Amino acid sequence: MKQFKISQILFLFIAISLIWSCKEDTKWKGQEPIKRVSTLTKPIQLQLKKTYDLGNGIFCSNEFDGARLNGIVLTNDTLVTALITPENTPINGSPWYAFKIWSESKQDIYLKLTYLDGVKHRYYPKLSDDGIIWNSLDSIYYFPDTTSIMEESSPSNISMKLSISSDTLWVSAQELITSKHIYKWSEDLALNSFISLEKIGESREGKAINMLKIGTADDQKMIIVLSRQHPPEISGYLAMKSFVETLSSDTETAIKFRNTYNTYVIPLINPDGVDNGHWRHNSGGIDLNRDWETFNQPETEAVKIFMQNKVAASGGKFYFGVDFHSTFQDIYYTINPELKGNMPGLVPEMIEAMGKEIANYEPNIRPGGLDGPKISSTSYLFNEFGAESVTFEIGDNTPRDLIKQKGEISAIKLMELMLR
Ligand SMILES: [Zn+2]
Repeated sequence: MKQFKISQILFLFIAISLIWSCKEDTKWKGQEPIKRVSTLTKPIQLQLKKTYDLGNGIFCSNEFDGARLNGIVLTNDTLVTALITPENTPINGSPWYAFKIWSESKQDIYLKLTYLDGVKHRYYPKLSDDGIIWNSLDSIYYFPDTTSIMEESSPSNISMKLSISSDTLWVSAQELITSKHIYKWSEDLALNSFISLEKIGESREGKAINMLKIGTADDQKMIIVLSRQHPPEISGYLAMKSFVETLSSDTETAIKFRNTYNTYVIPLINPDGVDNGHWRHNSGGIDLNRDWETFNQPETEAVKIFMQNKVAASGGKFYFGVDFHSTFQDIYYTINPELKGNMPGLVPEMIEAMGKEIANYEPNIRPGGLDGPKISSTSYLFNEFGAESVTFEIGDNTPRDLIKQKGEISAIKLMELMLR
């Protein structure tokens, strides 16, 4: 009798917990705390850059910036198998790949992408004839390895059917946007009279860390925009681009904003990682977004020195900071709303206002905790400068026109709120 009652209580407890967990509003689910890790330089493995002669008249190359291809073989007459490995381990499972493939005569092949044990496929293949215009592979030619798919998990390898010919076909994890493209975009923007371009430091391999200054204000009020700490995160970069272009536009709000606030943009923090086709790290083998406490890497150090010097010289304040990233879905990682910076409430208000402008869209907001290691860019921007800050995550597969719209509306709402 007693045992029966205990099992009844247990059943009731489980049922209540289940109902409670289902009721939990995921919109405001908190962040998982980030673990502190050493950011002292570690060795990385470079790719052998070459053109592979696979036989059957098929060739494949990784001899370009942004490429990632660590080995490739012709397994049988119609199957080509590629190996994609990271710059070092342990590493977040974001296997980036990019290579060119062509053939002496027109033929159809199956190309299989394989990774290290335990690594899951992440990026849906994009194809291009020129490395500029990209289209997703037609889904009828996409074959995930179903034997490896666990429930709701990604496959450990995928195959794709490709038609190849003497015209080079580019295959890439996302649209290929390397340092060359970002330097050019920055130079073009700097043709505007109210925008200037300055080098604030160098990467470990000596590439420029550039900064765009947008505005003609007196530096008493400033905002900062960061992007591409993590090389493959193209969708976040596209949102940043749209956000910055909106701040640079000819609208009355943008003009007024630029007369009041100067915006500082570092569009490419990790040029080495981007150009070497890294999965996540810089040339020092480090996740830069864990280095905003110890500043062991030159890329994070350059941003720190720039901001500290700017505040010391002007006596002004950074009121807002945003760092653009990509993940599996659109998420806003915010500072805990109980913590007040230089303009309390700005970030939640911006996200809410933006969400209202987009049809059928409920922003997924994940506030951080009240304590824990302060090792990411946004916690640094908040703790050191009081800048209301947000990590703006865009899903890998978010439609590109929606990304553009989100970047644009976020910038408009931000400017309106900051000019109140
Ligand atoms: Zn990221």
